[in-house]
Amino acid sequence: MLYGFDIGGTKIELAVFNEKLEKHYAERVPTPKEDYQQWLDVIEDLVRRADQQFGCRGSVGLGIPGFVNPKTGIASISNIRAADKKPILTDLTERLGREVRAENDANCLALSEAWAEENQQYQSVMGFIIGTGFGGGLIVNGKAHSGQSGMAGEVGHIALNYQALKLLGWDKAPIYTCGCGNQACLDTYLSGRGFEFLYRDLQGEPLPAKAIIERFYAGDKKAVEFVDMFVELMAICIGDLAVVFDPDLIVFGGGLSNFDYLYQALPNILPGQLMRGASAPVIKKAIYGDSSGVRGAAALFLSR
Ligand SMILES: [Zn+2]
Repeated sequence: MLYGFDIGGTKIELAVFNEKLEKHYAERVPTPKEDYQQWLDVIEDLVRRADQQFGCRGSVGLGIPGFVNPKTGIASISNIRAADKKPILTDLTERLGREVRAENDANCLALSEAWAEENQQYQSVMGFIIGTGFGGGLIVNGKAHSGQSGMAGEVGHIALNYQALKLLGWDKAPIYTCGCGNQACLDTYLSGRGFEFLYRDLQGEPLPAKAIIERFYAGDKKAVEFVDMFVELMAICIGDLAVVFDPDLIVFGGGLSNFDYLYQALPNILPGQLMRGASAPVIKKAIYGDSSGVRGAAALFLSR
């Protein structure tokens, strides 16, 4: 069986899948906050119990809100203090007597979708989380491309480009400082948060994303004008990334991925951002949005 862990700041979820990624079991426990040994104990305990229940030694994949350096096995997960800067892969591999793999949330989303039956026809998949932040993952032939430091696809920390600044009005463009310390990172524009920041700063009214979307559907002029601009900004920024990767499929997860108008508007304007003659990627909402963490982590042990 394939064990997929979604490691969050408040809970750890284990889900057990078969080779077809059909879920057989799931369990959630609180994340130990401070103590690293306790954090390891909780994972070990969940694995041992699943082994017993299914009479096997399942593979162990972790979906984490951060990175694991594949060379050192050391995690950078600042919002899980107990495990931050700890050699989580080496320690868990030793305790469990089997190889343990880990990927960040966005790679897990992309992986989970790449292995969905409907999407297996696509060789290359880019997954984007448009939630509190904006992150991405790259999948080629069913495997995550995570790079030499485990950070490939971290598109949230690329800055706005020439066309994006032009769209936002050059020196009138709101420039946000990102949590990473840089300015104008895509994370602060293409996320659900960015959607709200931009509406506040361009349309002069602080509103939650939900209210902006409601006004958009009701035909409110300011909201319609804003959403059209936002979709164009997305097309410009994602178009750049699609030029680099030339994916067959782009999937969106995270809160703002539930805004269905995106799937109507983006396919019309994204092709204009690509190289002439390039095939436009298919653009879809994630099928397994909420369970993408556990599914993607389990899929770390699948190969085509
Ligand atoms: Zn940043």
